[in-house]
Amino acid sequence: MTQVFDSPENLYRALPSMDSLLLADAAQALKQHYGKTELKNAINQLLQQARSNIAAEGRLPVWLNSHDTMFNHLALQLQQQHQLSLRPVHNLTGTLLHTNLGRSQQSEAAIAAVTQVMRYPTPLEFELEAGKRGHRDNAVSKLIHRLTGAEACCVVNNNAAAVLLMLASVCAGKEVIVSRGELVEIGGAFRIPDIMRQAGCTLVEVGATNRTHLRDYENAINDNTGAIMKVHTSNYHIQGFTAAVDEATLGQLCRERGIPLISDLGSGALTDLRRFGLKQEPMPQQMLADGVDLVSFSGDKLLGGPQSGLIVGKQALINKLQSHPLKRALRCDKLILAALEATLLHYLNPETLDAALPIMAKFARTQAELEQQAARFIAQLAPAYTEQFSLTAIKCQTQVGSGSQPDTHLDSVALAFSPKAGTLQQLEQHFKAHTQPVIGRIANDQLLLDLRGADDFELLLQALAELGASL
Ligand SMILES: *Cc1c(COP(=O)(O)O)cnc(C)c1O
Repeated sequence: MTQVFDSPENLYRALPSMDSLLLADAAQALKQHYGKTELKNAINQLLQQARSNIAAEGRLPVWLNSHDTMFNHLALQLQQQHQLSLRPVHNLTGTLLHTNLGRSQQSEAAIAAVTQVMRYPTPLEFELEAGKRGHRDNAVSKLIHRLTGAEACCVVNNNAAAVLLMLASVCAGKEVIVSRGELVEIGGAFRIPDIMRQAGCTLVEVGATNRTHLRDYENAINDNTGAIMKVHTSNYHIQGFTAAVDEATLGQLCRERGIPLISDLGSGALTDLRRFGLKQEPMPQQMLADGVDLVSFSGDKLLGGPQSGLIVGKQALINKLQSHPLKRALRCDKLILAALEATLLHYLNPETLDAALPIMAKFARTQAELEQQAARFIAQLAPAYTEQFSLTAIKCQTQVGSGSQPDTHLDSVALAFSPKAGTLQQLEQHFKAHTQPVIGRIANDQLLLDLRGADDFELLLQALAELGASL
């Protein structure tokens, strides 16, 4: 185009006016969809970009070459600005419970339950039969009682909140005894010593990093002891010359001395995970049987439910938590409680649990099954990628994630893209630009897509085919 040689004044003058753009036929569908205000905002931005382009490069941007390209540019801009940031992605990173990708997916029953309570009023704090006021945690509490034997349960926004509430309600102004081997940092700002301070408790460290004995706890108990606390070292493992005191032993000590025993369990599995080749996680029901008075754990780690924190145990202590002012600030809304209730219901039917909960279904996949999927994917996808990348299937290892089981892995299979003409960074960006971004990981000069994390193999295959065609 000759515009390259035009003077800036002529170029500025050549820009279309707001009014002409608003009246153009091509603008009407955009106006219909996004509204006049947003369309005007987008046109303003577009004209501003064009002016900057003239100032910087002395010519019009290429998308102003024709009426069609300009309106395509405008439509794309509006579409990007109105796209939900919390949209579905394919998590093929090799970490199943990925905190940055929203941890566990929910069961279909949980999704349906949430949709219903979003659409209609629901007896959140109302007892239908008695016709009187109820408590929002009651439904979950009843299920937790059946599943773990706990007398009662208190539900808050996450396990960090659960630990804070537990300490603030039961131990504020008092000393809390914790083994030096269990002063966990979970990530972000969550460290046991910090949370203690926030809750108004004094941390009393006992033992050594690798070894803590019963006498260490015994010697630390005094008149101002509020509790002994156990913290599950969910995201690390101390090996070698080690010793820790188990819950049953501490439970007996605490009963003798009349002080509560509390436990931050972290991941909190309600089902034995050894059937998947994972390690046995300490379970809340076992802790309670061992004499722990309160146990806290996350709803969106190994439980497979929504982000939440559950504190389960003795009724008298749960009552203290429920009446603490912090509980009002930390309580869950009806969407979370509906999803949690639906998730817990699955645990009453262990035979269907692995099919119902997406995290269990992913644990249950065999490497052979994933190999078959990989072969099918490669047969269909390789031709589209072959000029720029070679595509193979490799064996890999999936992590559970969210700090759970840091030293166990599940044998898995990944699609591995090796660079020929293209680069891995380009491919990674290209995958992320899809309407449902495909997120893998780069390792050993390959982009790996770990198939154990796939939610829907057909959707994924379709996405990768589209991405290959637009490479
Ligand atoms: C994960 C974890 C937490 C924090 O739980 P969130 O649900 O992420 O708030 C606290 N303590 C332990 C031991 C954990 O593993």
